[in-house]
Amino acid sequence: MVLNASTKFGIASSYPPDQFERDMRFGAGAGMEIILKITERCNIACTYCYFFFAGDESYKSHPAYIHDDVVDGLARFLSEGRRSYDLRRVRLILHGGEPLLLKKSRMTQLLVKIGEACSGMEFQVTLQTNAMLVDEEWIEIFKQHRVTVGVSLDGPKWIHDKYRVDKRGRGTYDRVLQGVRLLQNAHSDGRLQAAPGLLAVINPEFTADEIYHHCIKTLSFKNVDFLLPDLDHNTRTKSEIDKITKFVSELLTLYRQELDAGVKVRIVDSALRELRVLPIHASLLQRFLSQKEIVFVVASSGEIQPEDVLRTTDPDLMNTGLNVITSTLKDLLLSPALARLNDLSYSVPADCMSCNWVNVCRGGILYHRYSSDNGFNNCSVHCESLKTLYSGACETLMLAGGDFNQLNSRLAKKPSAII
Ligand code: SF4
Ligand code: SF4
Repeated sequence: MVLNASTKFGIASSYPPDQFERDMRFGAGAGMEIILKITERCNIACTYCYFFFAGDESYKSHPAYIHDDVVDGLARFLSEGRRSYDLRRVRLILHGGEPLLLKKSRMTQLLVKIGEACSGMEFQVTLQTNAMLVDEEWIEIFKQHRVTVGVSLDGPKWIHDKYRVDKRGRGTYDRVLQGVRLLQNAHSDGRLQAAPGLLAVINPEFTADEIYHHCIKTLSFKNVDFLLPDLDHNTRTKSEIDKITKFVSELLTLYRQELDAGVKVRIVDSALRELRVLPIHASLLQRFLSQKEIVFVVASSGEIQPEDVLRTTDPDLMNTGLNVITSTLKDLLLSPALARLNDLSYSVPADCMSCNWVNVCRGGILYHRYSSDNGFNNCSVHCESLKTLYSGACETLMLAGGDFNQLNSRLAKKPSAII
């Protein structure tokens, strides 16, 4: 094992600098997930929006709409990556701002170009929208290009309209609902393959019961994701953390009551999946086998970056110096910035090592571990929610006839890569 110089956050790299590239070169079946910022402006102004209102204003220096040369650059980046590394899967997530602000003709060109670059590979396109601009013409484009749509909505009108407001401060629920109904109808009559999914940020001010019932019973969503709020150790308060934990606990109860209703709740389903499969993080060999998916953001300017939410942590992390117009996948795989992000993501905070859930949780999402004093070497701010989630998922597995000894032996293995 190679131990490189520590970073400013005291995290020692356990991976040789070119290992990412070597892993990809020898890892047939490799894939990538690209979050493509096709617009960096929005038609509304949600009060909690991390992209526009969290202090980072780099979007102002980026084009409002993706340029044609960025689309061409990404298509070339993918074709070249496929030839060099036998890429097998590309998952493209069309993101913003609000992606439906892009002109329809330009969206069609983009989908055609990237689709051609990915021909012969498994290629999925998802679009995350606030749904306010959805109309029949958009639905035709989603149909033609097999785009799966996720809608952001926070719950009943009186909850949603408190935070998801337009630029004049007016609630957006009614306009979002019109878009949701168009998408659901298009799925019911067979024009769209997949029903729209729903993405809601957990709001500690409200109960899971209020939000879950509205989304599942009233709006008939079958595929829902509840996101733990984007808090770090600098911004959290104990009372909101306690309320979020209570929300997660209630959510697990509701999920169990609905087990036969075909409802998917991603935060719970992911925990169940992690507990069911063998731990994949216990050794460097397992790390090699598990890390074939690279995830990155391409800004409207073509810059390659880690996830947006890290913008408010260490500014150096966002600066890869790479752009899809001029860089290749090889450049990305050999990038010190990517290696550093990978080490950070793979490292386990010291305080997590004695936790019973460390093998599945590993400290949670990187952003939730951040503090300005200690970098990413902290347990997740959502630690109690994660413990509640994993213990509830274990109970669910046991109730469904899972093997206790097998589960216990999976959890007993400890990761070897430690901060
Ligand atoms: S819809 Fe999304 S991008 Fe637009 S303001 Fe709301 S959270 Fe931000
Ligand atoms: S549950 Fe908490 S202590 Fe355990 S690994 Fe996750 S963040 Fe760390």
